[in-house]
Amino acid sequence: MEKKRRKRYALLDRDGTIMVDKIYQSDPAQTELLPNALEGLKLLAGAGFGLVVVTNQSGINRGLIQPSELEAVNRRLAEILAVDGVALEAVYYCPHTPDEDCCCRKPMPGMALRAARDLGFDPRDCVVIGDREADVALGKAIGAMSVLVRTGGGRETEAEGKVKADHIADDLKAAAEWMLEKEW
Ligand SMILES: [Zn+2]
Repeated sequence: MEKKRRKRYALLDRDGTIMVDKIYQSDPAQTELLPNALEGLKLLAGAGFGLVVVTNQSGINRGLIQPSELEAVNRRLAEILAVDGVALEAVYYCPHTPDEDCCCRKPMPGMALRAARDLGFDPRDCVVIGDREADVALGKAIGAMSVLVRTGGGRETEAEGKVKADHIADDLKAAAEWMLEKEW
């Protein structure tokens, strides 16, 4: 008998993966989705994936943006997605700089593990999608699938040749299509 499959989750990077990376963005009005990002999120949600954002935001502890500004940008993102019926289950951010050696700045697994605890999923039932080496490394760290997207800094990341992602996709839609095809 077939076991009922557990809910899968997509742990998504924000800047350069869902949104155009405006570098320490503090103004919600600047929020702009990348081409095909909405379509990718719709495909994942339609296939039963929970959508969670995990984002490094060292601009906070560098003193370049306020937590309230970051949260306003996150709310704006949620509003834009909600227009098309896409809901994020949660958004986690790390405010720390690399020097702080925290356990949440990607590739450290802190945010993903917290999401797993809060939402009750197994990290191995996840795909991590992002444009940086840290996103792919996070996927490895938690035993999840990892997909590098060629948006944001993704082409540079790919050219550096260091990442061992399970897949490299042109954008979030292509990443979602690959996930759906592979019957994983
Ligand atoms: Zn942190």
